[in-house]
Amino acid sequence: MDALKKKIRESGKALNKHVLLVDSFLNHQVDCQLMDEIGDEFKRLFENENITKVATIESSGIAPAAMTALKMGVPLVIFKKSASAILSEGIYQTEVFSFTKRTSYQLTVKGEFIKKDDRILLIDDFLANGEAAIGGARLIERAGAKVSGIGIVISKSFQPGKEKVLSAGYNVKCLAEIEDMDEGFIEFADD
Ligand code: 5GP
Repeated sequence: MDALKKKIRESGKALNKHVLLVDSFLNHQVDCQLMDEIGDEFKRLFENENITKVATIESSGIAPAAMTALKMGVPLVIFKKSASAILSEGIYQTEVFSFTKRTSYQLTVKGEFIKKDDRILLIDDFLANGEAAIGGARLIERAGAKVSGIGIVISKSFQPGKEKVLSAGYNVKCLAEIEDMDEGFIEFADD
């Protein structure tokens, strides 16, 4: 997606070989015009999948996922990163290891928001080692629904996440794929 790649070139900052900061348009401050275009693009990429809900992981996935849900005309479900105080039959949880915090958290959703006949599009901001995407997909499947697509805003294709998600059989689409980066440079896969 050209507008996204342009924005990453102009405003993204590779901290080192592993972490890209996109605070100015995706994580802390949000470029809503760009999110609007991202919503259009995810809608186009997944329009044949009969999506009934968009799901994401709090908090950085919410802006692109909300725009996608709006464009598709379906609800948005937000997976929480904290264990529920009241563990009941209607709550699904799964452990996920955080790339940025280097610690595990319990990804949680109330079953009332994911039904067995739902076809879910899971959206996240980054794909690195694939823990968040695979964990989110596991949660959807635990609730009995189908993962009909995984939409990623930025994939770092030199890390193993994309391969893992593909070899698990998911239909994954990434709007920008970074092949290599380090302080001061970012190289896209299709440049
Ligand atoms: P994974 O679970 O695939 O290892 O990492 C994906 C999650 O870690 C995303 O939900 C995202 O929040 C965070 N993440 C991974 N890599 C980066 C990065 O380079 N920059 C930022 N800002 N977040 C990242």
